[in-house]
Amino acid sequence: MNNNVLVINCGSSSIKFGLIEAASGKRLISGLAERLGDSGARVVWKTQSDGGTLSIPDADHAHAIQAIVEIPAAKTLLATPPMAIGHRVVHGGEQFSASTQIDAAVLTAIEDCSNLAPLHNPANIVGINAAMAQFPAVPQVAVFDTAFHQTIPNHAYMYAVPYEWYDRLGVRRYGFHGTSHRFVTQRAAEILGLEYENSSFISAHLGNGCSAAAVRAGRSVDTTMGMTPLEGLMMGTRSGNVDPALHQFIAQALGMTLEQVTTQLNKHSGLLGVSGVSNDMRTLFAAAADGNERAALAIEMFCFRLARGVAALTASLNQIDALIFTGGIGENSAPIREKCIGYLQLLNFELDPAQNAIHGRGRAGNISTSTSTPVLVIPTDEEWMISQDCAALIGR
Ligand code: AMP
Repeated sequence: MNNNVLVINCGSSSIKFGLIEAASGKRLISGLAERLGDSGARVVWKTQSDGGTLSIPDADHAHAIQAIVEIPAAKTLLATPPMAIGHRVVHGGEQFSASTQIDAAVLTAIEDCSNLAPLHNPANIVGINAAMAQFPAVPQVAVFDTAFHQTIPNHAYMYAVPYEWYDRLGVRRYGFHGTSHRFVTQRAAEILGLEYENSSFISAHLGNGCSAAAVRAGRSVDTTMGMTPLEGLMMGTRSGNVDPALHQFIAQALGMTLEQVTTQLNKHSGLLGVSGVSNDMRTLFAAAADGNERAALAIEMFCFRLARGVAALTASLNQIDALIFTGGIGENSAPIREKCIGYLQLLNFELDPAQNAIHGRGRAGNISTSTSTPVLVIPTDEEWMISQDCAALIGR
């Protein structure tokens, strides 16, 4: 046995994967199997010295996992099976408050959570089954996006709806991106020289999906996402918070089914929906610079709604040791950080423009002035966190 962990993150048509040496955190292989089920399906991978693309036309998830094992780097590095395989699983419901080794009962419980995440959990289960078939003797671990948020108190996780919906159907806020919020808040405590148990943060994970969380004494106490990842902040293609009466209004006005309205809110809203240009923040900045007013509006709304989300999370804290930016947008976009902080002056946030310009892009650091409540940029690393959970559960 070695110390390597294969990390697998199965989406509906893609699998992100990485082979990580748990003790050192060294990334031996990272890659992506994409366009699964399509004639253009392929695996793209790289190591520290090498890389390549493998065409796997029409491959499904199971075939893709077989193909991952066949890429040249894996032939050597996976000749000895990994110590564990860590799976990112989106929804763990109320059953899972920590990462868990997978057995038949755990697999059934993950299946039971599929009704809460019908787009995500089934893909995760396919990935787990495929990895089990490929490596039957290797322990498999589920790392849940929701687990870190299981410490949120009931006054914050309940919706103000008939209690019976919670009791019978599990209708409540669960929160997501937990692995990322856990990682960056732990790193923030290290950077600031604080004990994690004695720290108090707001972290903003801003990627294609966006959420912010309040983390006190190492425990999530509130977050912006809800029963599904649609609630909360404005995102790439997701609306975030809207008036719940919108569903009926749009269904009637445009003759849509409820499912169609939900699809509009998930896939055709957010930055894309408002701008009509793109869900990619880089493209929006380029369009706004060219005078596109809707692109500029989408950017402003994104920052304002983020600031409003951050301000709402302060209700769960009695101090703020730092606000943390992470995720593709949070790590790379200095103007988004600047605009968001601009709306938060009442909370004593003030950016140092020079520090804001140089941090991010893989570099962690403090971007605020010496008199401001600290603002940090911290590159997230969910795969590393998953490898550490596996090592803690399975490691020697
Ligand atoms: P993620 O889901 O964390 O990979 O983040 C993806 C998002 O990060 C993309 O939609 C981009 O809009 C955004 N992003 C990446 N690089 C930059 C950048 N340099 N400036 C602004 N946004 C960026």
